[in-house]
This record gives sequence, C-alpha cells and structure tokens, in this order.
Amino acid sequence: MVHFTTVLGVASVLVPSIWAHPHGSSLVERDLAKTALLDNFDALDAEADRKPPVVQGTATKWATGKYPQNCYDKAREAISDSDARPKCELRDLEIYDVTYEDCSGRDPWIVCRCSNAELSLQETIDGMGTLPPGARSNVLHIITMNGFGGGGGYSDGNSIFCGGHPSNTWFSHESMHCNDRDGFAFSNGDIWNQAIAADTCVPDSYANNNPTEDFAQVGTYLNYDINGHTIDYTGKDASCMSHQLDAARTYLGDRLDKGTQCFNAPGSDGTVNGKRDGKRGVVEQDPEEGFAELLPHTPYTFPF
Ligand SMILES: [Zn+2]
Repeated sequence: MVHFTTVLGVASVLVPSIWAHPHGSSLVERDLAKTALLDNFDALDAEADRKPPVVQGTATKWATGKYPQNCYDKAREAISDSDARPKCELRDLEIYDVTYEDCSGRDPWIVCRCSNAELSLQETIDGMGTLPPGARSNVLHIITMNGFGGGGGYSDGNSIFCGGHPSNTWFSHESMHCNDRDGFAFSNGDIWNQAIAADTCVPDSYANNNPTEDFAQVGTYLNYDINGHTIDYTGKDASCMSHQLDAARTYLGDRLDKGTQCFNAPGSDGTVNGKRDGKRGVVEQDPEEGFAELLPHTPYTFPF
C-alpha cells in the first residue's frame, strides 16, 4: 500500500528541507514513525576499515568550454534565496571523464566539480569507488559544488549533486537513489512498503522521512555490511529491519556485489552520458562569458 499525505505533514516541521526535493513528485511524503536503529550513520565511517574498499579511478579533464547540461544548470543556480550569485562561475567549472579499473568497458562517469568545492576530485573519485560496479553504474553524473556554509546532497534519480563536504556514506546514499529507477518506483511500490510495514525499525532517523530515503539508507547499510566491515560494531540488533534488508538485497541483487558487471547509466540529463551522443545536451560556451541568466536556488535535501 502506498500512502499519500499532503506536503505539509508533520515531518515538514522537523525537516523542512525534505519538501524541497526538486524531483520529488513521485516521492511518498510521510513520516515512517519507526524506531531508528542508529541515530545516524557516523559509525559506518568512523573507522577506515568499516568502509567498502576503494576501487582505483582515473580522471581525464575535458577541454574547456564544454559542459554537460545538468552540470551547467547546477552551476548557474543561485547560491541561495538571498544570494543571487551563481553556485559556480563557469570559468571555475571543471568536467572530468572518470574511469575505474573494475569497469574498463564502460563509458566514463562524468564528474563536474566547481574549483571551490570542499570535496576534492580525489575524494569524489574514491567515494564513488566504494560502490560496487552495478550500483555505481546506474549513476550518470556526479556534481560537486561549494556548500556556502552549509551543504547537503540529492539525486534526481540519474545524477547526484552535492554542496559541501559529506561523509563517505553520502556516495552510497545518493547512488542508491539512482538505483531506485523510474521515478523511485521501487521505494514507492508495494514490495518496499510492505517490507517497512513488517518491520519495527529503520536504519537511522533520516530513513524515517519517507520510503525513498529509507531505501537509500538501507542500500547504504547493505553496501557497508557486505563490502566493508560487517556491521557488528554498533551494539544494535538489525533484525528489527530484516524485511527491508531482505527486500533491498533482493531488488539490488548483484549490483551490491564487488566483481560484477558494469554498464552504461540508462538515465540521461536530456543528453548524454557525455559524449556517446555527440553534442546533444553538451553546452558549449566560452567560460569567460559567464551566464546569461541564473536559475533559482534549489535546496539540497540530504543534510550531512
Ligand atoms: Zn536521499
């Protein structure tokens, strides 16, 4: 059963940013009201050996003056509702093809990074390298900007966006949204919602926001548990969310396993995986020109 409530539900008082999800028309908005197994995922990143191992990635910078459409559009968003400067001046926007040694046959991922982003290029490459090949493959572009004193992240279901400096679990969280394909169809469907209903807890308090955020957190928990250190260090019994763990594991299948196949992201930013489709969707502009117009500020929805 999928439940719909108004966007002015009780959770908006607690976490106002969640309602600003820019592509959230299909998100089921409700407070799951489950016990949170963990307060947050800090424990998962607290020790280096708890994280899934990093697969080596290599970046090749694009020639200046060409930008994937969704990177270009994110750069020309206003910093905030009260600061009309762009999130990234075009001359500061760097585009990279990124390949991984476990995905040699796949088209490169595209990383768009503003030169003042808190998250370094290497941290971005390494963070994505903690995803197994299948889960990583569903991500189209990775776009990182400065957080301007705050920050957060979100996914539109194809690409992932970040302002500021997230912890490593962020990469898994947003990538899981990209694996919840076709408008977050799995997390809005009966299988997932029945799994939630059969359990008494969710992974952490953020997962309580709605089934889509819960799925992203359960997928992250699974990635760390399977590919990192078995999550036996929290002192908590995860059997209270066993139906969610089983349902997500079944749905994600070998996308959660290291050593599996890579594939090109099925999504699009109206374009590309950057270059397979020629110039369609690639903005060509002199980086010294600046933007003719800005887009409104879009808040990030995943706080960190
Ligand atoms: Zn999320």
